[in-house]
Amino acid sequence: MEKYDVCVIGGGPAGYAAAMRAVDFKKKILLIEKKRIGGAGIHNGALSSKTWWELSREALALSTHCKSTNVPAPKHHFQILKDEVDKAVTKRRELLEHHMHNINLNSQGDYFHFKHGTAKVISEDIVSIKTCEGENIEIKSDNIILATGSRPRKLEQIPIDEEIILTSDGIENLKEFPKSIVIVGAGVIGCEFATIFSNFGQTKVHMIDKGNRILPFEDEDIVNIIEKNLERKEVLIHRNSKLVEMKVVNKTVVYTLEYDNGSREMFHVEKALVSVGRIPNYESLISESVKIEKDSRGIIDNLTRTSIPNIYAVGDITADIALVNVGELEGRYAIEQMFGKPEKNLIYENISTIMFLAPEVAGVGINEVQAQKQNIPYKAVSIDYSCISRAIAMRNTDGFIKIIVSNDDDMKVLGMRVVGEHASSSIEAVALLISMGKGINELAELIHPHPSIIEGIQECVRMLLNKSMLKPGVLRNAMRCRSFKNGEVKVFEFA
Ligand SMILES: Cc1cc2nc3c(=O)[nH]c(=O)nc-3n(C[C@H](O)[C@H](O)[C@H](O)COP(=O)(O)OP(=O)(O)OC[C@H]3O[C@@H](n4cnc5c(N)ncnc54)[C@H](O)[C@@H]3O)c2cc1C
Repeated sequence: MEKYDVCVIGGGPAGYAAAMRAVDFKKKILLIEKKRIGGAGIHNGALSSKTWWELSREALALSTHCKSTNVPAPKHHFQILKDEVDKAVTKRRELLEHHMHNINLNSQGDYFHFKHGTAKVISEDIVSIKTCEGENIEIKSDNIILATGSRPRKLEQIPIDEEIILTSDGIENLKEFPKSIVIVGAGVIGCEFATIFSNFGQTKVHMIDKGNRILPFEDEDIVNIIEKNLERKEVLIHRNSKLVEMKVVNKTVVYTLEYDNGSREMFHVEKALVSVGRIPNYESLISESVKIEKDSRGIIDNLTRTSIPNIYAVGDITADIALVNVGELEGRYAIEQMFGKPEKNLIYENISTIMFLAPEVAGVGINEVQAQKQNIPYKAVSIDYSCISRAIAMRNTDGFIKIIVSNDDDMKVLGMRVVGEHASSSIEAVALLISMGKGINELAELIHPHPSIIEGIQECVRMLLNKSMLKPGVLRNAMRCRSFKNGEVKVFEFA
């Protein structure tokens, strides 16, 4: 039986990052992937959906420009766009494959090994593999990393067929833009697809939201902008609506909603997208005899270590944040624990995130919803994009920057949100300062290029220090300040 130092099951972002970090330690590694290298980081996931999002933004910009110049907007052909998405997906996958197949040449050793097949842990150090060629083999490994990711959650009462009623995995089966689509679930993935379809302007989008607003975990000021923009593109948001039935009739979708007052209404659309979260892939991954602790949310781990000392779990299979960057971080951390000492502790508090909406929303640290839930006293200051030269130059002043600091003399940065163009690139400096435990004085003194969106961050911080150039007392609608203490939110004013 072939023996390895570490066997990584799953070649998505978490597993791939783990395997490549093990190469640095010159260990004998086996990576096993049953489908396509890159997992949901590339396919039916992060990269494919972001390529759709980028294309949809270009389409929206073009149709807006045509409208303003009284020229008829061109019709976008689904298949041509889909080919573009496929090209992006293939390019990234081929890069990872090329890299993987040549890694031993570069590291001058026989460290990295790959098998295309489905793996199962049959004892604490033995993994069986059914290869794609139909071979059954067993290998022995001192350490095992579970990185098998997650899949879309399905609801019993909804007949998902990935043709008419889809999950995010079924988007690749579409042959043309549906004339109408209903999106069940108003979380990040649901809202991203609502943005994509509505940007192309060829699909009437409906969204079902059981609460009174989309993105329930996000701050109200952010949600207001996103909802306003979706509704401007004629997205119908069914608020406070319970889905009581969804079925396929004559190859179209019929669904019935029940409202708060008990009344019911029926709707007809061409397709449905069910986006109600993801569930971890651990069924048939581990033999009954291997007693690893898990619950319905995933494998239970303590900083990637499972209840079995030589078995680690990383990425979406665990019960924490499901993001590419988190999976990669965990994969690398698991290897560093095995073969060395991690350079840095694994902390989840200050992970930067982006939501690809209209406009994009970037965040780091906590938001107001989380601070209030945890009863953390804070001050929040925000400045609209209308006060930022770069946004004015882009002729797109839809958005704002918000900084949340502790409500004491230290004013430690707790979090930040940027909604608008260039949001993602603007939060990086703050993310770094938070991770270094620095306060707002350092942020106020950084010199930024002009004109840049990040100048707005500086102005926000200077507001807190009472030394901003633009005075919030004059621009009350565009520069806002709030504080939270003892369960109460108060609007306050600087000079
Ligand atoms: C539509 C969508 C959009 C997203 N957008 C973003 C985004 O913008 N930014 C972001 O950070 N994250 C995004 N995510 C989340 C991100 O894709 C996941 O968090 C990430 O891919 C998880 O990585 P992973 O390695 O844990 O699992 P996965 O990417 O799911 O990979 C797991 C791999 O394991 C393989 N596998 C499973 N079982 C076995 C087995 N028994 N044997 C061998 N191989 C097996 C699978 O085939 C798969 O390739 C998005 C997800 C979706 C669905």
